[in-house]
Amino acid sequence: MKKIAILGSTGSIGTQALQVIAEHPDLYEAYVLTANSQADLLIEQARRFRPAQVVIAGESLYGRVSEALNDLPIQVYAGADALEQVVQNGEVDIVLTALVGFAGLRPTVAAIRSHKQIALANKETLVVAGELVTQLAYENHAAILPVDSEHSAIFQCLMGEQSEIEKIILTASGGPFRKFTMDELKTVTPAMALKHPNWDMGAKITIDSATMMNKGFEVIEAKWLFGVEAADIQVVVHPQSVVHSAVQYRDGAVKAQLGVPDMRVPIQLAFSYPQRLASSFDRLDWYHMTDLTFEAPDLDKFRCLALAFEALQRGGTVPCVLNAANEVVNLAFRQERCSFLQMPEIIEQTIASTTFIANPSLDDYFAVDAEARRRALSLLNH
Ligand code: NDP
Ligand code: MG
Repeated sequence: MKKIAILGSTGSIGTQALQVIAEHPDLYEAYVLTANSQADLLIEQARRFRPAQVVIAGESLYGRVSEALNDLPIQVYAGADALEQVVQNGEVDIVLTALVGFAGLRPTVAAIRSHKQIALANKETLVVAGELVTQLAYENHAAILPVDSEHSAIFQCLMGEQSEIEKIILTASGGPFRKFTMDELKTVTPAMALKHPNWDMGAKITIDSATMMNKGFEVIEAKWLFGVEAADIQVVVHPQSVVHSAVQYRDGAVKAQLGVPDMRVPIQLAFSYPQRLASSFDRLDWYHMTDLTFEAPDLDKFRCLALAFEALQRGGTVPCVLNAANEVVNLAFRQERCSFLQMPEIIEQTIASTTFIANPSLDDYFAVDAEARRRALSLLNH
């Protein structure tokens, strides 16, 4: 029986992880559940899955959650610091980082320092501090297993291989605006961007997919997870999202991983590796899978992807600034305070005007993140 801490159990990944646990009650136990604002859903999950501990990050909701669960033997905590504490619990085997944004960095580092296995959904952690986090994981013998579908695909293509890889083929759906002209991109609204063609995800990553910043983040994530240079990661637009990604070896052979777009598959593998477990999820229908297409991404139209490649090349705190500015404009766009095409502009200007540190410490990342957010906000309000 593996005990799992789900950070962000009320989100898209978190709720699907609970479905995986519910399919295998003999193998997995939801030991810790955490939420930020959705107190009622957290209470409902806790009453059903009976974790030992829950955390509501939004402190004002503590009373509501603790009262609703006071007839059960569940410890209730509140606040961001509690996230760091619960992952260190000696009973916890696996920490699923399914919370969104920079908020994932501290608890992920705490979990790694406690030698936990990490099922990593929170890609922002590797975007911001990939070098530091992967080094810490190495020193603490903490395995990081990817949950992101592309990285799980790459991980699966690498299983059983000893040879060096030539390159990674990172597939991208291209998002809902793949065929839009620059003029059409000017008119994009949040409602339009929140409709992803293939995946049903949280709001923040759905907007990142529409700008292709998500793919840029995934390039950075792939570099740290698999130790490949940016030049050896090729982004290929594949609108059907059937090929989840591929690896090309030195003899020219390419191994790809295919499947129905369903995040429960990579979540389950991150829990069960090196085993594969049975699942009741949908299977590919090979006779109706016509027209699998592949094309190059348009880096002029999707500037965010180009900015991410540049950030990775420059290194140091630049990817941290990229992430911070992106979190600011992503939220502003959803609140109609920023247009679709303004997002990359503000990110680029924030990178140009924020402190650069070549070899940052963890504290440096926090300082630079805060500075970049202030810069991006002031650029936005100009
Ligand atoms: P959601 O927005 O659906 O869920 C986010 C979760 O994190 C919620 O439980 C939310 O709590 C919690 N949360 C939000 N902010 C904070 C905070 N400041 N402190 C603590 N908890 C917080 O996101 P997704 O599930 O879509 O994404 C989660 C992560 O997984 C992201 O990093 C994303 O990039 C990555 N990912 C997601 C995929 C997907 O298919 N959804 C695919 C690949 C990667 P509450 O709801 O209670 O406010
Ligand atoms: Mg992905």
